[in-house]
Amino acid sequence: MNLENHVALVTGAGRGIGKTIALHLAKAGVDIIFTNRNKKFSDQTQAEIEAIGRQCLAFQVDVADADAVNEMVKMALDDFKKIDILVNNAGITQDNLFLRMKQEEWNKVLDVNLSGIFNVTKAVIKGMIRQRYGRIVNITSIVGFTGNPGQVNYSTSKAGISGFTKSLARELANRNITCNSVAPGFIETDMTSEMTKEQISAVLAQIPLGKMGSTDDVANAVSFLVSDQANYITGTTLHVNGGMYC
Ligand code: NDP
Repeated sequence: MNLENHVALVTGAGRGIGKTIALHLAKAGVDIIFTNRNKKFSDQTQAEIEAIGRQCLAFQVDVADADAVNEMVKMALDDFKKIDILVNNAGITQDNLFLRMKQEEWNKVLDVNLSGIFNVTKAVIKGMIRQRYGRIVNITSIVGFTGNPGQVNYSTSKAGISGFTKSLARELANRNITCNSVAPGFIETDMTSEMTKEQISAVLAQIPLGKMGSTDDVANAVSFLVSDQANYITGTTLHVNGGMYC
């Protein structure tokens, strides 16, 4: 895959799935702008991207903070002049049974996972419209389709991403901008590292391919959707879950 001369903004690329997506794109020739919260993680990601030979700008920006996002995109455009690819990956969980779920837990997860996507997309979209080209991929989740006990906030935020993706795809298609989602199942990252052995066994029993996914599995799907091979695909969700849900 050759995406040379492209520029991508990947949110939440300090570690986990976002970091692997950024590295895959960098290997395909893409210069990378990314956000996360913790400089310790971003320094490492930035060094790995630069070691591939690509330019990289890293920002400690909370995607839920619209003003900070606008400022970041302005600064990034001053340097890189354009953003061709947007991967809305940043996401958090704050799990609790619904009866115990606090208003703050609901608000925080919706603010980051759903309003974050609104904020970042809004900040980059004018440039994509002007250049008549853009590739947007939103990272949702299997639980946005199946639901999950203890994750009413998280699964609601992820289900919302489907509506966002489909509507935006219809609005922007005539500007040669595609908008798709990738829905990972259970992927080995820090987010899933706190699962107990019992929880992991229960999940594995539901996965036809019999194993958790890797961050590379998700990044491969994203790389496909932003490539020319996917030029005629928009408004869809690519499920990456070992057959757990289709
Ligand atoms: P991780 O927790 O491993 O990494 C999340 C990344 O997002 C980190 O770099 C983190 O920053 C960054 N981040 C979190 N909140 C914000 C914020 N408000 N603003 C900017 N950056 C932020 O998560 P995963 O890699 O596992 O998950 C990535 C995406 O994939 C999420 O949207 C998640 O919901 C989704 N997903 C994951 C699955 C899994 O099994 N792991 C399954 C289905 C979906 P920092 O580095 O500073 O902590």
